[in-house]
Amino acid sequence: MISSQEARTTILSNVSPLPPKELPFTETLGLVLAEDIVSDLDIPPFNNSSMDGFAVRAEDTASAASDSPVSLRISGEIPAGEGKEFSLMPGEALRIMTGAPMPPGADAVVPKENTETRETTVLINNEAQKGEYVRLIGEDITKGLGVLKKGTTIRAPEIGLLASLGRSRVKVFRAPTVAVIGTGNELVEVNKPLLKGQIRDSNSYSLAAQINGCGAKSFRLGIAKDTREDTLAKISKGFEYDVVITIGGVSVGEYDFVNQVLKDLGAELKFWRIRQEPGKPLAFSVLKGKPVFGLPGNPVSAMVCFEEYVRPALLKMMGKTKLFRPEVSAVLDQDFKKEPGKIYFLRTKLERRNGTYFAKPTGPQGSGILRSMALADGIGIIPEESSLVKAGDKIRVQMIGLPEDH
Ligand code: AMP
Ligand code: MG
Repeated sequence: MISSQEARTTILSNVSPLPPKELPFTETLGLVLAEDIVSDLDIPPFNNSSMDGFAVRAEDTASAASDSPVSLRISGEIPAGEGKEFSLMPGEALRIMTGAPMPPGADAVVPKENTETRETTVLINNEAQKGEYVRLIGEDITKGLGVLKKGTTIRAPEIGLLASLGRSRVKVFRAPTVAVIGTGNELVEVNKPLLKGQIRDSNSYSLAAQINGCGAKSFRLGIAKDTREDTLAKISKGFEYDVVITIGGVSVGEYDFVNQVLKDLGAELKFWRIRQEPGKPLAFSVLKGKPVFGLPGNPVSAMVCFEEYVRPALLKMMGKTKLFRPEVSAVLDQDFKKEPGKIYFLRTKLERRNGTYFAKPTGPQGSGILRSMALADGIGIIPEESSLVKAGDKIRVQMIGLPEDH
């Protein structure tokens, strides 16, 4: 048996980013850029007004005030999107809309709110300063600027920048496709009635959600019966994907065929079993460069193993460099006892009071008690060597919940 840290290191040293691929930019949310994005234009591409109002020469409005307004002749109107060239003569104002190009000769905009119109003239109620309410060419991005670096994760603002730059296709690290294979004669599909001795397959779904949640693509291949043949058939199909995840059948039971089948297929078993609870029987193999995670079948074990080992691997394959959940130091709010010799992943609910995090265990922690996971937004790390953590002691907690929870 190896330690949790050794398991992580072994897994991460056996996976690498997938080859980059060019995709339509609208399909890249959450993916990592595999190229530097350099602007081939100025943004904005022309000087334009940031207000609805009047384009003027600032000097024409000198000493204007509400009790002594300056009167300018309205010589036209420039709507947004106008391509026609206007120009402004001394003593004139051009009505201008937000985003419309500034006419040559004008160097300021007076917002409509500071004016009064009288048929063909406008009364300017305050002195305009040069450059006021004018967005200058290239003030956001100049031509030639490196806008986004390779390695950047694409979020909503990056999508917007790519659109502004006209980059409808971009090179990104591809999201891995992940086969999810359940095993077990006792498992039935969600929409089927339960017969005696049966339970519903929940893990395929929670795992698929975890996979999709980190930006990879899950494919549920169904449940293999506890026979060597069916396990072999399903796992063989799994190798059509970048990553194979099996659930259950990796313990020491008479019907636990996963490791045997992988061995027969020529996979190299890198490790089996970790000094941890829950999730001890995790098996990790590699076949033709593809990682295979044999997750334990208990629902909490499977989900915790995904968090600790599979998620960082998928993120690495997606080209990410930040692979782990953020951690906080939190005060445990009750005693926790365990046998030394195994790291313990304690499901907790985090609460923040006066700048201090408190971690509250989410009730019974059995590896089959999925509610302990549903109630949790933190995984408390109780180190291998410890046998007792007292209420009030601090523990490290991985934040697995939604950022809006805190
Ligand atoms: P195993 O590792 O196959 O011995 O399974 C351990 C426990 O997890 C057993 O009680 C199984 O019934 C349960 N289990 C295995 N796979 C699933 C699954 N896909 N959904 C829900 N429970 C499962
Ligand atoms: Mg089983």
